[in-house]
Amino acid sequence: MANEVIGHWRCDAGGQADVMQTKRRGHHLYTNCACCGLDQRTGAKRQTQLWNEAKFFAGAKLEKPSNVQYLTEDGTEGGDQPQPTQTEREPEGEPDFDPGEPEPETEPEPTPGRSWPRLIAGVTLIGSAIGGWVWTRKP
Ligand SMILES: [Zn+2]
Repeated sequence: MANEVIGHWRCDAGGQADVMQTKRRGHHLYTNCACCGLDQRTGAKRQTQLWNEAKFFAGAKLEKPSNVQYLTEDGTEGGDQPQPTQTEREPEGEPDFDPGEPEPETEPEPTPGRSWPRLIAGVTLIGSAIGGWVWTRKP
């Protein structure tokens, strides 16, 4: 069953494309126009462009495609709702990983001596308190 037209979009060739939306997972938008034919690309850039530029009919049943990205004013990703899909994961960008490389050893912090000054200060405080108490108890 064909999905209903939910809006129009001025396509890259300048024609008027019908905008439809798949009912499948991801709710991707796709277009169909006389000049370009059916365009069912689901890339985030494409989906974001359609989502932002298409004129959707008032009252059209519309779901935001899963991979629409919010862009900041300078065109970089805003990262509001980054939802990468399984099918569009790009192979590049993965950090190089060498499984043979040993993990860097974590050195334990040399802190044992650190508590001594506090301990001495505490003992001195208690000692002076007792001393003072003894002193005041003297007749
Ligand atoms: Zn077209």
